[in-house]
Amino acid sequence: MIPPTTAPHRLSFHIAWISLAFGSFLVLALVLCASWMAREIDTAALNEQKSAIATNVASMGQRIQLEQSTAADRTDGVFYSMHGRFAWVPNGLAQWISQQFNHDRVYVYYLDGSVLQASSHGRQANGAILSSDRQAVALLSTQVAYNLSAPTVGGQRLSAGSFGFRRLEDGSLAFISVRPLDAFASTAGFSGNPLLLASVVLLNEQAMNPISQRFGIPGIRTVGASLSSATVALNDELGRPLAYIQWSPPAPAAKLFQQVALPGIMSIVLVGGCIFGLLAWLRRTSLSLESSQTHASFLSLHDALTGAANRILFEQSLREALHYQTLAESKVLLISVDLDRFKEVNDTFGHAAGDELLREVGRRLLVELPEEATLARLGGDEFAVVQPGIVSDGHARWICQRLLQALSDPFVLSTGIMSITVSMGFAVEPPSAISPEELARRADVALYHSKKAGRNRCTLYEPVMDADRKDRLTLEVDLRNALMQDELHLAYQPIFSASGGTIVGAEALCRWQHPVRGLISPEFFIGLAEETGIIDELGLWVLRRACVLAKEIGLPWIAVNVSPVQLNRAGLAEQILKILHEIGFEADRLEIEITEGVLLQCSTQVQDTLSKLRAAGVRIAIDDFGAGYASISYLRNYKIDKIKIDRAFIKSLNDDPSLMLIVRAMIDMGKAMGLSVTAEGVEDDAQRRALTAMGCTHLQGFLLSRPLLPDRLVQLLAEPGYVPSDRIVANSLS
Ligand code: C2E
Ligand code: MG
Ligand code: MG
Repeated sequence: MIPPTTAPHRLSFHIAWISLAFGSFLVLALVLCASWMAREIDTAALNEQKSAIATNVASMGQRIQLEQSTAADRTDGVFYSMHGRFAWVPNGLAQWISQQFNHDRVYVYYLDGSVLQASSHGRQANGAILSSDRQAVALLSTQVAYNLSAPTVGGQRLSAGSFGFRRLEDGSLAFISVRPLDAFASTAGFSGNPLLLASVVLLNEQAMNPISQRFGIPGIRTVGASLSSATVALNDELGRPLAYIQWSPPAPAAKLFQQVALPGIMSIVLVGGCIFGLLAWLRRTSLSLESSQTHASFLSLHDALTGAANRILFEQSLREALHYQTLAESKVLLISVDLDRFKEVNDTFGHAAGDELLREVGRRLLVELPEEATLARLGGDEFAVVQPGIVSDGHARWICQRLLQALSDPFVLSTGIMSITVSMGFAVEPPSAISPEELARRADVALYHSKKAGRNRCTLYEPVMDADRKDRLTLEVDLRNALMQDELHLAYQPIFSASGGTIVGAEALCRWQHPVRGLISPEFFIGLAEETGIIDELGLWVLRRACVLAKEIGLPWIAVNVSPVQLNRAGLAEQILKILHEIGFEADRLEIEITEGVLLQCSTQVQDTLSKLRAAGVRIAIDDFGAGYASISYLRNYKIDKIKIDRAFIKSLNDDPSLMLIVRAMIDMGKAMGLSVTAEGVEDDAQRRALTAMGCTHLQGFLLSRPLLPDRLVQLLAEPGYVPSDRIVANSLS
């Protein structure tokens, strides 16, 4: 009956998984995005590097040509005769160019191949073109010669020089620029053997260094084949790649990404984990709050012991059932359930056992009832059931019978096995015809009838029951009036000594002479007095009356019945002793008769009252002994003086041998415990003889005397056959 909590747990489990998947997806997307951006940035940087290096390489040729021109212009001593070959070239021109402009090799030579000056790496060289340069220089020289022989524009040639990247004989790569050295060679009409200037700049590591430094790109080198995207082609004049400039692109963004990726991911995961943990904690907290709220609202509408609905929910369910049923044809059933003698269970086996029993009763009822029914515990041992959709009275009775049946099997509790009976009252009505309160009242009236009719049954409400109830209410008022107006009186049934046949005392029995109804039996009105609380006043009235009479007529002792309801009231012993004191009646001439059930209660209040009375000298007798559950231990614990064997045992004493044995056992037990034993309801002489033979100490019954009015008792006591015995001593067997 505790509200379920598994669904939210399952939900939060799903949410956790979804959050985890979403978080992972987010992290992955971030990583991919950052990696893509890094690649894009690096690609853009690479393209810029390519274009810068390509531009730089392209400008190399122009630079070398410019440097050659600068050097040629400086050679103002170069003279070339139109009429013959005369040349004067300053000494060390080749060496100066090589040193000044870092050209690896410089040649000043004639087209026919005769070398005028040669310099290699800034030093004077012997007068020949290096074999490795020879073919490349020759080819470019031929091109220059061809340019010189080509038609001029406006009598002048803008540039007769030729240059380009070349693979040299020794396999090295170089930029070679060849140009005519003398000014006249470019003029129109020139022919002959022109003086040429050739510069060879090797594209080696040294040549690449300035580029590396300029662009901050380390490791720029030339390679034969392009194996990387970071390359720029060096083409010959026909556009064919001769070689490539290659470098390792720094890829700063990728590097940065690699450096920050792991810590970044870890940070994101950490932060994500923290957020997730926080959310999980918040969720858990809100769930536990929700669950405690659900639990609290469950408890506010349910009985904590059985889990059944409480009165609030019960009334709500009843109202709802009546409201919704007005739309349908069927009726609403209300059952009032009450456990018979539950108090005795509590008193005998303790409250823990009582609680366990109530829990089990609730469980069994719930198992039997359909879902649309509401089971409620309205208090103590009271349960109620509301069930809509009932088609007939028979249908309702069938449901009640099933519930009775379900509770009839013994209950296995931790204290032992226990059987109980249950009383039920039920009312079935079409909803349009009745209010919730009236339906509940009718079920209660029917329950009362079940109890009255002997318990362990279910009773359907009938209108005539209301008349009974009204009648009872009227009687209650009448009884209160009777007590005040002296309509009650006492009859006294003498109690005889079994051995001598003499009157030893009498039992006071209350009578009610109703002005309209006539004589009413105490079996009826004592119960009514107990239910309504009148018994407290009534009981003390009887005691006072009986003791007064006993004193007046000199009766050895008087027995007065004391109800269990009275015994449970605080101050009873003091009230009784006060009455005895007021009328001057000795306490040891009073005997109070209590029932076995009182002993079973184990109530400290009862114990206290009985011990106070006994201490004052009042004797205690167990009335109707054998009809209840008292055991020897109870008799011993309570210090009883007398047992009165229930008349049910005496009635068939001579017809049933087993009863004879039982009664004998009771008498023997009483004797063994030092108790007086009275047999009630002795109606014939055979019973009297048998009981006397078995050792019974006192006899009471119609055979010896019916209950008598005081006058008759006085007469009887005066008759010669009835001699009052001496006052018996407590616990004596005489
Ligand atoms: P009880 O205390 O066991 O009283 C004995 C009952 O047995 C009396 O019934 C008596 O008339 C009846 N009786 C005695 N001898 C015979 C017999 O030989 N045959 C049969 N059939 N009956 C016999 P009564 O007066 O109707 O009282 C019934 C019960 O009402 C009493 O049973 C007692 O428990 C209760 N009662 C009567 N007066 C009072 C009272 O003042 N206070 C209380 N608390 N209970 C009372
Ligand atoms: Mg009695
Ligand atoms: Mg009795």
